[in-house]
Amino acid sequence: DLGPRLSIATRDEFGEVAQAFNEMALQLSRIEETRRHLVADVAHELRTPLTIIQGQLELIQQGVKRAEPETLLPIQDEVMRLTRLVGDLHQLSLAEAGRLPLEKTWTDLTALAGRIVDNFQIEAEAKEITLTLEASDSIPVYVDPHRMTQVIVNLVGNALRYTPTGGAIRIVARQEGSEAILAVSDTGPGIRPEHLPHIFDRFFRSDEARSREEGGTGLGLAIAKEFVEAHGGRIGVESKLGKGTTFTVRLPKDLTVSDRTSPRPDGF
Ligand code: ADP
Repeated sequence: DLGPRLSIATRDEFGEVAQAFNEMALQLSRIEETRRHLVADVAHELRTPLTIIQGQLELIQQGVKRAEPETLLPIQDEVMRLTRLVGDLHQLSLAEAGRLPLEKTWTDLTALAGRIVDNFQIEAEAKEITLTLEASDSIPVYVDPHRMTQVIVNLVGNALRYTPTGGAIRIVARQEGSEAILAVSDTGPGIRPEHLPHIFDRFFRSDEARSREEGGTGLGLAIAKEFVEAHGGRIGVESKLGKGTTFTVRLPKDLTVSDRTSPRPDGF
């Protein structure tokens, strides 16, 4: 008699289908929740600059202030902040959708980091921060140099922003097995252990960073992570409160089949 056995099997199958549906529903509600959060975060981030712009414009309209360069400067600052925010969001959404256009070419990581260090040197000197690069002669990587520049600029920019006067920022680039590694270390305030898991989330900023209001959008590290991962790499962070922080980028040197069609130029 197959009756009971069949019905048990059928019940199991129903159970599996029901469970699969439940899991799908759960996943959808998580996606919906993430989307809702993002919209709320973006609205929140837009509010502050818009309030400042509106306030300044009202003062000019009421004749309290005149439309002089001094009065217009805060408006211009906030417009630039909004422009940066919209640009960052666009890059981030492209990367998250896996549609970030990458123009990969053979690039010397040492030379690329060297140019960034040169560009930041004046800002570092103004803060009496020593900014140094230690790297092997040449580290060939097959990357989009503009995206990779943005990753390193975001990391060094943060290190400069959060490290107090008299500190030090050290960039080390080296090859290790099949990876190229670039680390940015600073002697800044460090990051609280409970904040570390969230540091690459979009719009995450510590209260200390928020209160400084030094122009960050809270998207710099999220962008760095997406860009590195779009190259098949990884980014990590280590930090000690009161001592400093190190961000480490690891890029694969083993190329995918399609990448191998582009031969390494001579000298690499
Ligand atoms: P932001 O625009 O606020 O710098 P990021 O995504 O670049 O946004 O960084 C997120 C947060 O991580 C910062 O607000 C700050 O709290 C923390 N952070 C990033 N880099 C450092 C650093 N080098 N030292 C200490 N805290 C940092």
